[in-house]
Amino acid sequence: MTAVKKVAIAGSGVAAMAAAIQLAKRGVDVEVFEKKPDLTPLGSGITLQGNALRVLDQLGVWNDVLEQGYPSDGLVIRAPGPGAPVVMSLPEAKTGGPDYPASLGMYRPDLTRILHAAAVAQGVVFRFDAELTGLTEQEKQVELTVNGEPVGSFDLLIGADGLHSTVRELIGIDVRPQRTGMGAWRAFVSRPSEVVSSEVIYGGPVYIAGYTPTSEDAMYAFLVEPAQDRSALSDEEHARLMYETSLAYDGPWNAIRADLLKSPQVNYTWFTAHLVPDAWNRGRVVIIGDAAHSCPPTIAQGAAQALEDALVLTELLESHDQLEQGLWDEFHARRLPRAATVVESSVQVGQWQIDGDQHADIGGLVYAVAQKMAVPA
Ligand SMILES: Cc1cc2nc3c(=O)[nH]c(=O)nc-3n(C[C@H](O)[C@H](O)[C@H](O)COP(=O)(O)OP(=O)(O)OC[C@H]3O[C@@H](n4cnc5c(N)ncnc54)[C@H](O)[C@@H]3O)c2cc1C
Repeated sequence: MTAVKKVAIAGSGVAAMAAAIQLAKRGVDVEVFEKKPDLTPLGSGITLQGNALRVLDQLGVWNDVLEQGYPSDGLVIRAPGPGAPVVMSLPEAKTGGPDYPASLGMYRPDLTRILHAAAVAQGVVFRFDAELTGLTEQEKQVELTVNGEPVGSFDLLIGADGLHSTVRELIGIDVRPQRTGMGAWRAFVSRPSEVVSSEVIYGGPVYIAGYTPTSEDAMYAFLVEPAQDRSALSDEEHARLMYETSLAYDGPWNAIRADLLKSPQVNYTWFTAHLVPDAWNRGRVVIIGDAAHSCPPTIAQGAAQALEDALVLTELLESHDQLEQGLWDEFHARRLPRAATVVESSVQVGQWQIDGDQHADIGGLVYAVAQKMAVPA
């Protein structure tokens, strides 16, 4: 690794962790600044597609991920109505190639814990309660301010600070996430034994009612509805509303409902989309992951794209001996078209559902995206 020797990363999500691990492995000093007081990630579960699993293998954490998660090669589509009959069982494309399952469901805190342990083992230094608040670029360094105090100079700052990225704002990129019109409840619940892959019901009172196993015992369930302002609701009210809405769905939803009444972890999130359409860097500062692009999770590629950003960036930092324009041109050429495909297609799938378009070829579009993602980033 010659282009950089000392790197700061803002954020500690998947993009940050992946970049930190890859850089530290190559002997770079890496310091991660995270504004939260600890690692506690929001959300319940996550679906990692094959192309994400391929990156996790390159990071050296695949065995741990496989041990903690729930692999699957198919998707079951059920109909709304009595018994929630199975309409189709579809094989999913193996976007990571034949060595990985098509997808793997996981409890998000488990993924965070595994990545954090791998980063610490490589010598990455984590600072929590550390909000990046300012930067000044010099010719050969970028000076950073955290919680309003100077923390030193670095060869490179990676802004992996998510949807509402401070780094993006500090470097003058004015693209912001836009709401797509959908919102989702998600809950972490027990896995009924009959559920062995992701299952979805299209139709009924919400756009999508689904669930994805994350381990032998657990899964996450979600209801995707027209986005509403539910910010004033308490945790109990979220759980009650999710419960009441789910009453329209039969089959495994009966078991999910029983759990929603017990000790639910329910959250509500609006879907967003954005893509920084040109350079993701300004000098020695670059944004990756949700800071650079976001998409509704209609094809579950957000984290995969964040991981790929980190992998490609760190590969280029290793193969170049300085932070020259050629490095950034290559980075954007490899990342922008791919991220654009994912963002545009994810938005399209959601919009078809919002429009109730009966003729939309959702399967065809998802398959076409999968074919592209199967080619390594
Ligand atoms: C409802 C929902 C479901 C989803 N489901 C899936 C799925 O199944 N599969 C999938 O692949 N993707 C999914 N995604 C997308 C996925 O969650 C994101 O794309 C991914 O987590 C982005 O990771 P990231 O590291 O870029 O950002 P984040 O995980 O958001 O991390 C950013 C970090 O930066 C920190 N931070 C922010 N500002 C500062 C600052 N100034 N200084 C220091 N730290 C800062 C934050 O606290 C946070 O820890 C879903 C998204 C949503 C909304």
